[in-house]
Amino acid sequence: MRYYSTGKMAPEVSLSQAVKNGLAPDRGLYMPERIVRLPESFYSGIGSMTFSGIASVVADAFFGDDIPEDDLHGIVDDTLSFDTPLVKVEDGIYSLELFHGPTLAFKDVGGRFMARMLSWFIGHDGGTGQGTGKVTVLVATSGDTGSAVANGFLGVDGIDVIVLYPSGKVSDIQEKQFTTLGRNITALEVDGSFDDCQRIVKSAFMDEDLRSVFTLTSANSINVARFLPQAFYYFNAYAHAVRMGLDGEIVFSVPSGNFGNLTAGLFAARMGLPVSRFIAANNVNDVFLEYLRTGIYRPRASVRTIANAMDVGDPSNFARILDLYGGSVEAIRRDISGCRYTDDEIRDAVRSVHDRTGYLLDPHGACAFLGLKDGLKPGQTGIFLETAHPAKFKDTVGEILGEEISIPDRLRAFLDAPKLSVKIGSEYLDFKDYMLARLQ
Ligand SMILES: *Cc1c(COP(=O)(O)O)cnc(C)c1O
Repeated sequence: MRYYSTGKMAPEVSLSQAVKNGLAPDRGLYMPERIVRLPESFYSGIGSMTFSGIASVVADAFFGDDIPEDDLHGIVDDTLSFDTPLVKVEDGIYSLELFHGPTLAFKDVGGRFMARMLSWFIGHDGGTGQGTGKVTVLVATSGDTGSAVANGFLGVDGIDVIVLYPSGKVSDIQEKQFTTLGRNITALEVDGSFDDCQRIVKSAFMDEDLRSVFTLTSANSINVARFLPQAFYYFNAYAHAVRMGLDGEIVFSVPSGNFGNLTAGLFAARMGLPVSRFIAANNVNDVFLEYLRTGIYRPRASVRTIANAMDVGDPSNFARILDLYGGSVEAIRRDISGCRYTDDEIRDAVRSVHDRTGYLLDPHGACAFLGLKDGLKPGQTGIFLETAHPAKFKDTVGEILGEEISIPDRLRAFLDAPKLSVKIGSEYLDFKDYMLARLQ
């Protein structure tokens, strides 16, 4: 399979090259040249398949030309060491729990898959004949990406990971999950916002000085190896829905920041997954909603909220959505609607759902839940993506409920370890100086 850039100004590349490049040289995002529609027989039998069996079929459709079947299915199996259960919250509304992986956020799926795929390519050089040099993975994080990617790559030979995160703007637990690891993982604490971190990473890819000495790649959802596997759990959600006997058109509500998660859902729909439509749930960082309303995309600085992983003012996967729909806002509106919620509305939702049903939402899932509450039509089945375990936002959620939130053991282990981070300023040159100093 070849990959083209949404910028349309860069050559098409192989999967291996798309994974290693991260961002295309014209600053566009890579897109697979084809989206394969899966056969009816797959959908009619999906209810009796395992998650890993389902994901292997989806993986074959994208990566089957590039990685031998046994190896690819091995990568899938290894990635999906946990399920994504569908849990009823109230009549017609279900939570797709994506937080049962090692760092308790949905990004474990993409992070773990990408680590294994990249390491496979480094071992096999993807047929490019470019040898097996060391790769440096750069990742900007607003919280959960850093931990999923860092834990996914921890101890993987031939790969160094550098996590850039905004100082003071991620929760303690999130920070501990990527600053305590050491080994091949370095955490850079940037004196700025998530958008600054993301800008630094994008600039690094354009910087010939750095590229001449480092083989850089990105593990943000701009990377196809992180982004495409996120389609897996939409299919798994459908399989659960079939087993639970849910009828009614399915509407997915996705708490969105960089829109990688939602875009993966759009790919699943193009592959024939029976989905009626998508809701893009946002906090007050609502450039996408504004785009749906006005047809004009106006990126702006992000605002801090209690759903911090969605504090994004210029979502990188917007380029992919535009590309999928040929730039037509009318076509986008037919498949995706938007909504936005303030911190107070998020707090109310967490509290009232907990009081009413006993189900504990995290602030991101709460936005997506509200999107269904406000947007679901009679007879439809609403599935919202619960993107992180509420304990990852222990302070916020605890404050809302007025009680202490217990932390799963998996998380507690990180909390006791000492933080190892390097502080840098928010300018690109601060980062570049740091990188060049690493060479000494
Ligand atoms: C990253 C993240 C999001 C946003 O996902 P995108 O793919 O960037 O839209 C939502 N919720 C949580 C908990 C996250 O970590």
